[in-house]
Formats: sequence, C-alpha cells, structure tokens
Amino acid sequence: MYNCVICRYHEIATKGNNRGMFEKCLVDNIKHAVRAADFPCRVRRVRGRVWIEPEAAEDFAPAALETILAALKDVFGLESFSPARRLPVDMDAIRTAALDMAAAVFSGCSVGHPRFRVRARRSNKRFPLTSKEMEIDLVTALAERLGDRAFDIDLDEADITLGVEVRDEFSLIYFDIFRGPGGLPVGSNPRVLTLLSGGIDSPVAAWQIMKRGSPTDFITFHSAPYTPPETVDKVRGLVKVLNRFQRHGRLFIVNLAEFQKAVRDNCVERMRTVLYRRAMFRIAETVARREDCKALVTGEALGQVASQTVANMDTINRAVDMLVLRPLVGTDKLETIAVAERIGTMKLSSVQVPDSCTVFAPSSPATGVPVDLALREEAKIPEYARILEKIVEDIAFDA
Ligand code: ATP
Ligand code: MG
Repeated sequence: MYNCVICRYHEIATKGNNRGMFEKCLVDNIKHAVRAADFPCRVRRVRGRVWIEPEAAEDFAPAALETILAALKDVFGLESFSPARRLPVDMDAIRTAALDMAAAVFSGCSVGHPRFRVRARRSNKRFPLTSKEMEIDLVTALAERLGDRAFDIDLDEADITLGVEVRDEFSLIYFDIFRGPGGLPVGSNPRVLTLLSGGIDSPVAAWQIMKRGSPTDFITFHSAPYTPPETVDKVRGLVKVLNRFQRHGRLFIVNLAEFQKAVRDNCVERMRTVLYRRAMFRIAETVARREDCKALVTGEALGQVASQTVANMDTINRAVDMLVLRPLVGTDKLETIAVAERIGTMKLSSVQVPDSCTVFAPSSPATGVPVDLALREEAKIPEYARILEKIVEDIAFDA
C-alpha cells in the first residue's frame, strides 16, 4: 500500500548557510535508522523534505515499514513523517488509490463512526482541479464507496485524515502524520561527554543534549568494592537505551574509591560530597580532552540537593577549565521524570542500587563550600594529583 515515507523537518529549514550541513546530517541519520529494517531503501533529500523509498520498484513490506517508522520516532531533527503512496499527477489515479487505501484504513479504525476529512494541497498549478475541488471529489467518491453513514465530515478534528499533495512530477496520498522528536540532527554539533550516574536526571540531560545535535560519550563513577557490580551494570543498561538516539556513545568506567578513601582520611567530613564532585569533574575533563569531547554534561538542577546550591555548583565548576552544559538546571523533578518515562530510562533509573556518591557520605553535607575552602581541603590530601592520575590510568571502557 505504501511506496514511500515522507520526512518533514522544521528548525533546520530556518538555517542559513549551514543548512546543507544540517540536512546532510539528517539524511545520514535517517539512512542509519532505516538499516534496522534490513530492507534495501533509498534515502534522499528533495526540496526541503527527505524521502525514503524501497530500492526496487515495489511497496514496503509491512514489517519493514513498521520497523522504519519505529526507528524514525527517535531521529532528532524530524518534525513529522508519513508513510505515503506516490502516484502519477492524475485525478483518476489519486481517486482509485485513495479509495483502496481508505477501505483498509476505515476497517482498521477503532472508532465506530469516525470523523473524517480530506486535506488537499497542490503546488502544481497546472493541475485541473483546485484543492477544494479535489477534497469534494474524494469525499463524494468515498461516500459512494462506503455509504454516507460510514463517517461524519469534521474539518477541525478528525479521526481519519486523508492527505493529498499534487506536485509537478508526482502526487502523494497518506493517512498518518507521526510526530518526530524535533531538535537538531545528532552530529550537527560537536561531541560531548556526559557524567552519567544511575539516577533519573543525567540520562535525561544526555538525551536533551543529543536532541540539540551533540553526540555524547558517557563517563560513570563507581566505588568498588564499596559499591556492587550492579552499580555499573545499571549505567550500562542506561547507555544502551540512550544509544538508540545516536550512532554510538562509549562508556568510560571510573573507580573513585581510592580518592574517596583519601578524602575520608584527610578532609572535613561535611565537605566530602563537594570534593568528590570536583574530582569527578577533573577526571571527566581529562577524558574529554583525550577523546576530543568539547564539553561536559551533567544532570544538575539548581537547588535539588546540597551539592547543587549555587555556591557548591560554583565551587565544583571551578575544578575545571571546560564548558559544562547543564540542560536540566531550571527543570523541576516532575518534568524530568516525565521525560525519563517518555524516553524509556525511568524504569532502569528507578532500580535501587548503591551510588558512588553515597560512599562515606557525610550525614549533613555542607550547602555552601567556598572554593578557597575546597582548595584547602584538597591540599591536605597527600599526592592529590597522583591519585587522580592513577585513577585515570585505570579507567576501563565499553566500546
Ligand atoms: P542523577 O539523577 O543524574 O544522579 P542527582 O539528582 O542524583 O542526579 P547528584 O547525585 O547530585 O544529583 O548528581 C549531579 C550530577 O553529577 C548527575 O546528574 C551526574 O551528571 C553527575 N554524577 C553524580 N554521580 C555520578 C556518578 N556516580 N557517575 C557519573 N556522574 C555522576
Ligand atoms: Mg545521583
């Protein structure tokens, strides 16, 4: 029934000189997504749209089409997409195909007496019928075929909408318009490194950053033997879910335990969390520079916990000399949870496993550690730099 998928984008269309780069990136990502279906397809960009068509002159196999549509839901940059039938520029051909397809769509519709409308457009001004005339023609033909009682016409809100477009070289009909995730194609901004805990926030932060076009690698901190292997397994699971939205993000796995012991043995207890966090940032920065990631990303939200006060975020931030992106900084937890549910990370994030930050955690953490105090505490740790170097040398990674 369907012999093409039409993909629409919006924000990219507003780009000036860079537009070509964004479009190429989107086409590449769609090509990659389509591979999941294992059905030879052509993907190309024609005048502000991207078209997916079977390589052979045939319709999509239904299962392949379903896989393609499911994959497109995760391709950033897409506003919407529709499986469609491409036809000659000819009203009889359009009517015949529309009637055939409508019969299947009406019989599959869960509403007993559906509201229906036709939305026709023509960019081909030589076509003998106006948009309005096409709409009347098709509604009349459909009422004849299915009976007047098969549907109500409702132009504002319909259960079934038949879309028709008549262009210069071909025409198109479709019934479904699926929403894409919006944003910018992944790869249109530089690669970044996300500090990924097993919590709710950081996976959402990674998703937001990918949505704005940056592919991301991941770095996670554990404290074996004080945290169990499940701590890292959980993060691996999250990376797998998040990698649905990009080609590939690696996971760097860091054992912070030696450093945490040094903090426990040398520093003021209330400052431990801030000191851990500064070390995490420093290690992440080292890895980011080595791996050519241009910024760090965290799931911090202003005021959420003691380490996320303005004062502590400032002190933590000063540990590094690299841009730190905090896409959730102004987000409420409930909003973050809603996104986590939608993108499929919430279930995994809710599994309770010990977190690296809770190892030797102070019972009452300081909410405002000035940077000079943090520096003074760090100076108390013998061989601070050497401990971090050793930790970096021992980083494991999942390719
Ligand atoms: P999350 O839900 O993302 O864990 P959170 O609300 O629990 O966030 P914190 O534990 O204070 O807040 O962590 C703030 C940010 O620091 C996290 O969003 C994450 O980016 C980073 N972070 C914290 N712990 C780790 C860890 N063990 N490994 C990697 N990054 C971490
Ligand atoms: Mg956390």
